[in-house]
Amino acid sequence: MSLLIQNGRIVTAGDDFVGDVLVEGETIAAVGPALAAPAGAEVIDASGKLVFPGFIDPHVHIYLPFMGTYAKDTYESASRAALIGGTTTLLEMCCPARQDDPLEAFELWLSKGAQSACDYSFHMGVSRFDGTTEAALREIASRGVASLKVFLAYKGAFGIDDGELFRTLTLAKELGLIVTAHCENETLVAELQRQLLAQGKTGPQWHEPSRPVRVEAEGVHHLMTFAELTGAHVYCVHTSCREALEAVQAARLRGVRAWVETVIPYLVLDKTYAEQPEFEGAKYVMSPPLRDKWQQPYLWNALRSRLISTVATDHAPFDFAGQKEMGRGDFTRIPNGIPSIEDRVRLLYTYGVCRGRIDLTTFVDAASTQAARLFGLYPRKGTIAVGSDADLVVYDPAYRGVISAKTQAMAVDYSAFEGWEVEGRPSLVTVRGAVQVRDGKFVGRLGHGQFLTRPATHY
Ligand SMILES: [Zn+2]
Repeated sequence: MSLLIQNGRIVTAGDDFVGDVLVEGETIAAVGPALAAPAGAEVIDASGKLVFPGFIDPHVHIYLPFMGTYAKDTYESASRAALIGGTTTLLEMCCPARQDDPLEAFELWLSKGAQSACDYSFHMGVSRFDGTTEAALREIASRGVASLKVFLAYKGAFGIDDGELFRTLTLAKELGLIVTAHCENETLVAELQRQLLAQGKTGPQWHEPSRPVRVEAEGVHHLMTFAELTGAHVYCVHTSCREALEAVQAARLRGVRAWVETVIPYLVLDKTYAEQPEFEGAKYVMSPPLRDKWQQPYLWNALRSRLISTVATDHAPFDFAGQKEMGRGDFTRIPNGIPSIEDRVRLLYTYGVCRGRIDLTTFVDAASTQAARLFGLYPRKGTIAVGSDADLVVYDPAYRGVISAKTQAMAVDYSAFEGWEVEGRPSLVTVRGAVQVRDGKFVGRLGHGQFLTRPATHY
C-alpha cells in the first residue's frame, strides 16, 4: 500500500519547503517536488496544509496506580486521543511501587500496551535499588529500554534515597541510559504540607505553596550534583519555573549532561486556575504545581533558545467526580495530574507558533525531534526523511475549534482547557504508513501500535 501526500508545506526541525512525501509500506520512500504517484497509491492533497513528522510525547502516564486510585485511561482511549491530537509515539512512565519487582512491572506495562493504536515505549521507573533490581534493570535495558525514571519526590511511594540515586546513575552511565527525573525535595514538601494542614489550609489553592519554586530548584540542583559526580546523562521532567531552569543552566556550564522538559500546562496555565473556588481548583493540581503567570515568558524564552528541549504533557487523567474529590478537605490527597495528551500539539501550535513565541521548526523540534534524539528513536522517528517510519501529520491551519470535555477522546470527565479556542488540527495522521486519523476522527486500528526498542546512546 502506498500513499502520496502532495503539495504540503513540509516542516521538520531543520527544513521548511513545499513538496510531496511518498510512503511505501511502513516507511517514507521519497521526499521532493512533483513525485509521481505509483499505481494504486492513495493521493492526499495537502495544499495549504502543513506536513509534520509524527509528534512524540515523551512523558505520559496511562496505566498508573497512584494515591490510592488508578488513572482513567487505557491504551485504547489514550492512544486514540493521542492520535487525534497528532501524537504518534508515546513514552510512558513504567512506575512500579517500591515493593514491586521491576521485571514483573515491566511485563505488566507491556501487556497494557498491546491494545495501543500508536507506537510506544517506556521509561523504566526505579523505585528501589538493590542487587535484585540492578539485575532486573540490566535485563530490561537489554530489551531495548534506553531510559530510566527516578522520583526525588513522593516519599515512601516511588521515591528513592540518595544512596539509591547514586547507584542508579552509576549503572545508567555504565549502560548508556539517560535518567529522567522528577525533581522536588520530598522532605521539604512533607514538612510544608504538614505545616499548612495544621494551619487549616486544606483547599487546592495550598498545593502550590506546599511545593514552592525553591523546592523544585533544590531538587534539580540535587540531581545535577549527582549527575556531575557519576557522569550520568539526566533529563529533568516537567520543569515549571525560572529557578529550576537556572539550576540546570549552571550545571550545564559545569559540563553536566542535562536536558530539560517542560509540559504544556505550565506554558499556558498559571496557579490562579488552582485557586478557583468550590474545589474547582483541584482540576489543576499537578506536581510541580502551576506557577505565577510571570514565569510563562521564561519558559517560552527557554524553549526558543533550546534550554528547554522538549514539550511533553505529563498526562495523568483522574476524574473530577470521585477521584479529584478524594482530596476535599485535604489537598495532599488530590490525585495529581492535568490530562492533555490530546491537546498538547494544538495548544503549542496556537499559543506558541500563532502567537509568535516560537517558530515552526522549534515547534517540531520540541514536540517531536528532540524526544526522538534523546530517547534513541532518531531518525526512525522525529523527522521526514527517506527510510524513516511514515509517521506523518497533515495539519490544517485553517481549522478553528474549541476544546471541550464533551467532545474529547480522553477518558476523563473534565477538560482543563474547557472552552479554549485552538487554531488548526491534525486532519490526517499516519503511523508507519497506516492512516489512523482522517478529518480529525480516529479511523485506525487498535493494536496497530508497536513497542519500540531503543538503543542506548548516553555513554
Ligand atoms: Zn509524570
